[in-house]
Amino acid sequence: MAETILSGIRPTGNLHLGHYCGAISQLVELQNKGSYDNFFVMIADAQALTDNAKNVDKVKNNVIQVAIDLISAGIDPNKVTIFIQSQVPQLHEMTDYFLNLVTLSRLKRNPTVKEELKQRGFENSLPVGFLTYPVSQAADILAFSTTLVPAGDDQNPMLEQCREIVHTFNSTYASIFTMPKIMLPSSKTQARLPGLDGKLKMSKSAGNGINLCDDEATVKQKIMNAYTDPNHIKVSDPGQIEGNVVFTYLDVFCKDEHFAKYLPDYKNLAELKEHYRRGGLGDVKVKIFLNNILQELLTPIRAKRAELENNIDNVYDMLFENGKKMRKIAQAKIEQMHDAMGINYLKYRK
Ligand code: ATP
Ligand code: MG
Repeated sequence: MAETILSGIRPTGNLHLGHYCGAISQLVELQNKGSYDNFFVMIADAQALTDNAKNVDKVKNNVIQVAIDLISAGIDPNKVTIFIQSQVPQLHEMTDYFLNLVTLSRLKRNPTVKEELKQRGFENSLPVGFLTYPVSQAADILAFSTTLVPAGDDQNPMLEQCREIVHTFNSTYASIFTMPKIMLPSSKTQARLPGLDGKLKMSKSAGNGINLCDDEATVKQKIMNAYTDPNHIKVSDPGQIEGNVVFTYLDVFCKDEHFAKYLPDYKNLAELKEHYRRGGLGDVKVKIFLNNILQELLTPIRAKRAELENNIDNVYDMLFENGKKMRKIAQAKIEQMHDAMGINYLKYRK
């Protein structure tokens, strides 16, 4: 069976390398394989408002930024329907019915939400909408009959919640929803790229990332300040690889051919790691190598971005047209839902 694919991104900031390796590179691969019926990418502005209600400008400005980032990083708008969540009000109605099928204690157990609450300092001022966003995310997935959700591993609990809702709805009313699956990147590191601070995952809200739109000098400066091994003080000191984000990024982005090009004293990453562990290899040398690799990745993305910025009306037109298309699909699902729940009493009155 061909899949219906949906992935979501919150417009809370520019996209970073975590999105690139955790979500976008998978999406581009799937898009190019072509074995799908439908392929949607949602810019989750309503979800972004659940923790930014008083900061609408941030969300508003980032909607177009995220659309530009996605296309610059390789999403092809001729193959993938990129749309804005709030353009599909049917999602709110669907969320409302789903909320009755989920308990408060279940919502409070969601480990990703727990981590996010701590990070945002929401312990005593938790917006209700934030706690319930996994339910609205289930509506986003189910409204379009999604079968596959490519995402990073922070989304595992959201998919679990969504699957529980499918089970409860289908067994309470009628089987109208199919079980969606998550699709994680092949490596654990790609599924959860750490931030430059080495503590949390790279995230827009934590501001600990390298953005796809950062200019050359900013990328270099961020890499030079990245967390490595705090006990590796002198070049001659033995260094630790584990938890050292520069090596973590190399694990994800470095290929053997980069050595021939930028660091010919070594054949591959294993050799470089070995030297670092032994001592005698300074952080700056490794950081300059990483910088070369990342600049090579980011240069064409920056160029595409500049092109799109010069034709920004085309991006707005695309988002507008795609909103219409997605409303139609969601409306059909809502009507199916009304029938299943038996709240279609006025259906045949004209
Ligand atoms: P916010 O801090 O506002 O939640 P975010 O940086 O977590 O922003 P999202 O828009 O929530 O980004 O996530 C979009 C997609 O990118 C999801 O599939 C998510 O799993 C993935 N993703 C986000 N951060 C990372 C990361 N550090 N590593 C791998 N994948 C990630
Ligand atoms: Mg997030």
